[in-house]
Amino acid sequence: MNSFDNLLARAAAGRGALRPEELAVLVAARDPAERKALREAAYAVKLRATGPRAFLRGLVEIGNACAKNCLYCGLRRDNAATHRYMIPEADVVRMARSAFEMGYGSAVLQSGEIESEENTARIERIVRAIRAATAPDFAIVLSLGEQTREVYARWRDAGADRYLLRIETSNPELYASIHPADHSWKRRRGCLSDLASLGYQVGTGVMFGIPGQTALDIARDIDFFREVDADMIGMGPFVPNPETPMAGAPFDKTEALELALDVIAATRLHLHDCNIAAATALQVLAPDGRERALLAGANVMMPNATDRQYRADYQLYKGKPCLDETSGQCRGCLSARIARIGETVAWNDPGTPPHYAAKHGGGRAEP
Ligand code: SF4
Repeated sequence: MNSFDNLLARAAAGRGALRPEELAVLVAARDPAERKALREAAYAVKLRATGPRAFLRGLVEIGNACAKNCLYCGLRRDNAATHRYMIPEADVVRMARSAFEMGYGSAVLQSGEIESEENTARIERIVRAIRAATAPDFAIVLSLGEQTREVYARWRDAGADRYLLRIETSNPELYASIHPADHSWKRRRGCLSDLASLGYQVGTGVMFGIPGQTALDIARDIDFFREVDADMIGMGPFVPNPETPMAGAPFDKTEALELALDVIAATRLHLHDCNIAAATALQVLAPDGRERALLAGANVMMPNATDRQYRADYQLYKGKPCLDETSGQCRGCLSARIARIGETVAWNDPGTPPHYAAKHGGGRAEP
């Protein structure tokens, strides 16, 4: 067995088996045979952890206003080219309920970052209404940025189960290179601790392909997920947005997809029993990008459950797919895509990450 295969065998044998320097060897692989072996080993671990099934999470993009100014993001405060919207409360609840009725086991409410009492109370009301309009095991997921512990606690009390907050990079210096000076890596890291302490199922993730990022940076990101005991991982490629200060950064579509698949595979091999999303952005890189991610170890897809009229205004990156499909069309398209690779959709299943279930006796922790 050569040293690459040896690393794969050790990683597959147990969670957290490799050091960052060893994970970096997996992430840096460029030999086609090694990349194939990496993804196959990861897929075998996924089959053991969650089976040949994809869990669906209906995505409701509830508003695109943001107080932050991240240098890579189309929703950044200073991007005057974006038309801002906020979906009325009753419509957000209707969209989440429709995701439930379509058989998705969970819905994620996502928006730019707003810190205000008005916004906190609005989300509280929405979460309570969704909880009342769906089944107790329908998972309500929030992705609303950095907030105080008190705000996270209020939303948890209202009935939210999960929270997604990407750290973007575990390297504070790299973080500083893609954010304005008043954005704090430390605060973001602290938010992840707050969320875990409140009993949320916690999701985090990173971007890869950031200018100046090394294979060891990405390997440390993957080990960071283990260190913070994340339950869910959502990662995506850096795709330069023409309306941002990082518009001219180098970008190669083909290599971005190959790197994405390798990072997903290395993450599955390191974490074993977490949920890993096949990011919608992968479909920008190749029409079958998300399916290939499932075959490299991902197990979650996020069909868009937002009304069509809002979708074009929610573009973190340009070229976002599925702008014209109805939610029903997204449902049909995704299930056909999943069937084509020999997997099935776990309909009406919240897809609680096995890692979280193991920590909490197999189920949902009460708020
Ligand atoms: S990445 Fe998030 S916090 Fe940053 S500008 Fe975009 S929406 Fe706002």
